[in-house]
Amino acid sequence: MTTPTKTTKRPRGGRADPHDPHFFTCALDGATLDPTGYCPTGHGYPAFVWFWATGGTNPPYPRWVKVMTECPIACPICTARLDWAGGCLRCNGSRTPDDLATWTFPGDRYDYDTSGHWMKTVTGPQAVLSDAEFSAVLQGVRQMMAMKPST
Ligand SMILES: [Zn+2]
Ligand SMILES: [Zn+2]
Repeated sequence: MTTPTKTTKRPRGGRADPHDPHFFTCALDGATLDPTGYCPTGHGYPAFVWFWATGGTNPPYPRWVKVMTECPIACPICTARLDWAGGCLRCNGSRTPDDLATWTFPGDRYDYDTSGHWMKTVTGPQAVLSDAEFSAVLQGVRQMMAMKPST
């Protein structure tokens, strides 16, 4: 792994928007990221990137700022930003979020690699519930069964 220097070629100009991947450079290997934020050198999404900040609360500007990345992938159901596990905090991967039994991980799962890149490890959607979610589902089923008239 090489540490990028000030001579590393980075995109010029741009907005100080940490969510806009167009002006980002991988902070781990200096590669120019594709428009989705993917690093062709690390074969994953870098955990840290440089971006060209033109304004903000910590002058001087403009300058290069190193920031931690968020998962750039949108939820296929509600278009909110997914987390790295492929989960969606807004809709819980369901078109009927009130029904816990329908919760899913709508996206792919990414795990942090030793190179500092997020690597895809599971292709979504994943119909997996966490322990807490599973317990909630079980509780709901028990309540339904308890409402049935006993014979
Ligand atoms: Zn990289
Ligand atoms: Zn969603």
